[in-house]
Amino acid sequence: MNIILLGPPGAGKGTQAQRLVEQRGMRQLSTGDMLRAAVKAGTPTGLKAKAVMERGELVSDEIVSALIGDELDAMGAGEGAIFDGYPRTAAQATALDTILTQRGRSLDHVIELDVDEDQLVERITGRFTCANCGKGYHDRFEQPRQPGICDKCGSTEFKRRPDDNEQTVRTRMAEYRAKTAPILPIYEARGIVTRVNGMADIDDVTRAIETVLGG
Ligand code: AMP
Repeated sequence: MNIILLGPPGAGKGTQAQRLVEQRGMRQLSTGDMLRAAVKAGTPTGLKAKAVMERGELVSDEIVSALIGDELDAMGAGEGAIFDGYPRTAAQATALDTILTQRGRSLDHVIELDVDEDQLVERITGRFTCANCGKGYHDRFEQPRQPGICDKCGSTEFKRRPDDNEQTVRTRMAEYRAKTAPILPIYEARGIVTRVNGMADIDDVTRAIETVLGG
């Protein structure tokens, strides 16, 4: 099964994708994570992407589609993909169709996380992750059970994204509204979109997604 999680920054795509990975053995393909890894490693792609990401603008369609193609090639044929943060433009949506067809895959579901944008800024500016295993936390909504120690792996190192500040978040939202939201009709016309209330409790959102995906 191949699915897209769609929604503005902070809608919970990454959190829900992590859960699907754990529960269903699917693979999370997050172009944001791939780009951050490229920036950290100082690859040519990372060098091109760094400043664009810091401003909250979109990296070129060619770069992200190439990253997605490479990741799919590294996956087993039977492994399902969760596209998280991709596609973000009409050109990427078209590229994804080609990329999937070339690999004998197809898109089963697009899950749109429906959220209140005003509350997203608070969600995003409070979030942090374990520097070792990537588990997500939040200053107000989800602190580690033991302060300063990751629940999942015991690490004491945490990190925050440089683009999770209010000004950049506003740009990222504007990019979403202008370029990403308009691709929904492409998938609606195929009858594969389900809207899920992304403001509900995290577990309820997971259950709603599970219902869509079935058994
Ligand atoms: P994310 O982690 O999905 O919020 O992405 C962080 C940043 O990476 C975005 O603000 C963009 O600068 C860049 N980015 C991630 N995915 C894409 C994409 N599919 N297309 C263009 N830029 C992307």
